[in-house]
Amino acid sequence: MKKYDYLIVGSGLFGATFANLAKSAGKDVIVIEKRNHIGGNAYTEEIEGINVHKYGAHIFHTDYKDVWEYVNRFAEFNRYTNSPLARINNEIYNMPFNMNTFNKIWNDVITPSDAINKIEAEKNEMNGKQPSNLEEQAISLVGRTIYEKLIKGYTEKQWNKDCRKLPAFIIKRLPVRFTYDNNYFNDKYQGIPIGGYTKLVSKMLEGIEVQLEKNFLENKEYYKGLAKKIIYTGPLDEYFNYSLGKLEYRSLKFDTKIFEQENYQGNAVINFTGKEVDYTRVIEHKHFEFGTQEKTVVTFEYPCNCEEGMEKYYPINDDNNNSLADKYREMSLEEKNVIFGGRLAEYKYYDMDDVIKKAIDLYKKMEFDENE
Ligand code: FAD
Ligand code: UDP
Repeated sequence: MKKYDYLIVGSGLFGATFANLAKSAGKDVIVIEKRNHIGGNAYTEEIEGINVHKYGAHIFHTDYKDVWEYVNRFAEFNRYTNSPLARINNEIYNMPFNMNTFNKIWNDVITPSDAINKIEAEKNEMNGKQPSNLEEQAISLVGRTIYEKLIKGYTEKQWNKDCRKLPAFIIKRLPVRFTYDNNYFNDKYQGIPIGGYTKLVSKMLEGIEVQLEKNFLENKEYYKGLAKKIIYTGPLDEYFNYSLGKLEYRSLKFDTKIFEQENYQGNAVINFTGKEVDYTRVIEHKHFEFGTQEKTVVTFEYPCNCEEGMEKYYPINDDNNNSLADKYREMSLEEKNVIFGGRLAEYKYYDMDDVIKKAIDLYKKMEFDENE
């Protein structure tokens, strides 16, 4: 029986990057994917001539020059800059937290020093304490007024936990800036691949054998026998049949609608930060590519518990889950010739550029070890 050098479980960006690099170096590679399409959660599908982000809006942004150069080998990126709005009832605020936000929240705040003074005054309630949870971190960054209007409701819908029970790092994903700049990211490079992510991933997988609707875990021993090494990008706990217990994930339900109008909300992303609606984000996909189609496709994003059989979108990286994940990681070191990588298999809140970076570095390390 033919033995591949690598069997890659999952055709998301981690698996596709690793497969692409290995194939380019002349290795024998096969990718298996349990869904009926490639691309993992970055998958896009064309509806009404618009690339719809089927598993939630994906904006590519990175500070890693090598990752940016790498993805640009497979697609041209447009100049889209993410500038979401936050809506609470009928009020609209600019995100991330910047001078536009501060000026609208406090109409006597005009200059950066006005904003700094206002936030410093609100921060006094912290009494110099180091933040130990998301609520304290948010108040330390932007004060209580903004925390209550733009963070608390959104976060509690998103995670279904009290902000005092959530790790501080989650809110530090968002920039706080004292300039009038609505760019959601600080990274040097940003854009959307023209033609969609599925096209990008299919270019990465060009010339590689890909088998869809194949679940590695349903036939683990057989698949392990097919290759010298396995790269596994599925959920960490699922690999071990939950033998130490289940890691918690947060899931999402997407309600996608086609509207017979050209422009529904005037922006690609609007965050709903209050409890007056159950959804957190409304995405109008055409605006990622400056679309001018007659109709528009809009997705309402509802966070929910991750019940049996649902997609595991977000790891919940609190202390309990992280320590359980550490135990699984120890077990994974015992798995001969299986390497765990990507957002699900590492149980880390990674962005797309993080997983591509990790896959590039992993491939380089394996190549180096092989040549030693
Ligand atoms: P995945 O994309 O999850 O791919 C894993 C693949 O493995 C899947 O296709 C899965 O079906 C397959 N698989 C799993 N188990 C098995 C098995 N047993 N057998 C066979 N196949 C299996 N990142 C950004 O940079 N910018 C964004 O704007 C952004 N927005 C996001 C919005 C949402 C709602 C979500 C959930 C994530 C977002 N991300 C964003 C993060 C991004 O989706 C991930 O970083 C990236 O897609 C992870 O790639 P991956 O290959 O590790 O995992
Ligand atoms: N967040 C918020 N208000 C917003 C947007 C984000 O409070 O309008 C918080 C929320 O806790 C969220 C976190 O910031 O989980 C990270 O937001 P990000 O946009 O990075 O989330 P993702 O795109 O990964 O879902």
